[in-house]
Amino acid sequence: MTNLVTNLAAAVEKYGKQTAVGYQGTETSYEEFWGQTGAFAAALDACGVGGGDRVAIYLPNVPPFLIAFHGTLRAGGVVVPMNPQYKAREISHLLGDSEASVVVTLSDLVPFVDAVRDETSVEHVVSVDGDAEGATALEAFLEPGDPDIVERADDDVAVQPYTSGTTGQPKGVQLTHNNLASNAQSAGELIPDGIRSDDKQLGVLPLFHIYGMTVVMNATLFNGGAFYPLPSWDAQEAVSLIENEELTLMHGVPAMYNDVINQPNAEEFDLSSLRLCGVGGAGIPVEVLRRFEELYEPKVYEGYGLTETSPVTHFNSPVKGRRVGSIGKPVPGVDSRVVDGDFEDVAPVEQGPVDEDETDLDEITGEIVVAGPNVMKGYYGLPEANEEVFTEDDGRTWFHTGDLGYRDEDGFFYVVDREKHMIVTGGYNVYPREVEELLFEHEAVADAAVAGIPDERRGETVKAFVVPTPDAEITEDELKEYCLTNLAEYKHPREIEFVEELPRTTTGKVQKFKLREREESAEDTE
Ligand code: AMP
Repeated sequence: MTNLVTNLAAAVEKYGKQTAVGYQGTETSYEEFWGQTGAFAAALDACGVGGGDRVAIYLPNVPPFLIAFHGTLRAGGVVVPMNPQYKAREISHLLGDSEASVVVTLSDLVPFVDAVRDETSVEHVVSVDGDAEGATALEAFLEPGDPDIVERADDDVAVQPYTSGTTGQPKGVQLTHNNLASNAQSAGELIPDGIRSDDKQLGVLPLFHIYGMTVVMNATLFNGGAFYPLPSWDAQEAVSLIENEELTLMHGVPAMYNDVINQPNAEEFDLSSLRLCGVGGAGIPVEVLRRFEELYEPKVYEGYGLTETSPVTHFNSPVKGRRVGSIGKPVPGVDSRVVDGDFEDVAPVEQGPVDEDETDLDEITGEIVVAGPNVMKGYYGLPEANEEVFTEDDGRTWFHTGDLGYRDEDGFFYVVDREKHMIVTGGYNVYPREVEELLFEHEAVADAAVAGIPDERRGETVKAFVVPTPDAEITEDELKEYCLTNLAEYKHPREIEFVEELPRTTTGKVQKFKLREREESAEDTE
């Protein structure tokens, strides 16, 4: 069970006539889906694309994403998923670096591919929504046939996504068949009864991102469930799909849950068909989780992971009991530690979550590291970056997550913040997440992000960017005062700016570098 193609073939064998994909009222059975992937694999073969060759998928969540993904693997190829919001400049790096020879995309995006074609190895462009100049329509590209699966070893690369890129140049993450298949299996087993063949999964998390790809798409398909893709996030549309199709599983990033509870008709939604909600990709503010669970029946279980770990490493499992505010325990087969700068274990606290204002976080916190079958083979063509993120210790290879956290004696882990987000102000460390959690508790705050901005005296100072609720009447001073009464003086935001929205990646992470950049350019023009 370590190969993505044989996993899908086994599901087709077992659940042939059941729905694999449901989209806009059309249902595709497992057998039909297998046929579509075969036609795609045959088409790649006809183009001479095979073992180890790279195929870029530059699509939102539409059924052809799934066909191209599993068709490429069946042909022995490597999938390079690309965010459909990217423009020519951004895809130029991904296509150049990965040397993809085929790009599967939408007709509207073909011009971006055309613009960079000369600098890359792209030979074939396939448009999944009809004709476009410079591209072949998907129907014309497909070849009839049911080709044999091209054998791939467990440690052959299957997918090469590029990391979110909230900082720096995106790096290609080489994930093998074994990485992805073992993690899809874990993700399926973590919930009560595992994912069942009568489950219906909301497919709104982007499939180009590892969370949507493994936990949502593959874990569903390998267990006979039905997958309902939605091309973009719209709270009303997602809720209607859940209500109309009586979906049973939903995964989302915190911003999606926050969006649902802030809808004007939030109290009228009926989410009772859902038996499980999962959240990850960023820490969910406890207040958002609490409000969602107050309004609706299903509980929200938090998971944690990274692109480099396929993704799930920790999960707050409903089967094993959950602890709100924690990312849970390592998933089966994955080991995790909290280490200091010398790679020594930091002692666990008795029971978390700790009261962050009463505790010296620096004492209990270290970097979270992980080891397991889901850890990537390495960044593509970047030996120096690989040296930085892997450490050999105790006969195992540990991957550095770059996240700061602590753990408790019961084995629950807690993320305090990203290492690079920590603010050092006048010699004190401030973890933005702690201030953000407090802001979320204020009724006038719909969304918030805290970042360190340059300060002559303190090196950095704490600044909060706040999206107020629509009818809120709150001033900067009132909100500052509220923080001062609840936090140590050095942690309170000395500056607060009200904004309409926060810059986020499609996977829900606030792009703090953008907030800081905006701050710097505002200073330059002063
Ligand atoms: P990505 O590679 O895009 O999946 O991003 C991985 C990063 O997302 C991690 O290193 C964390 O900083 C963040 N992340 C994912 N899940 C969580 C979570 N449950 N709580 C806090 N941060 C998270």
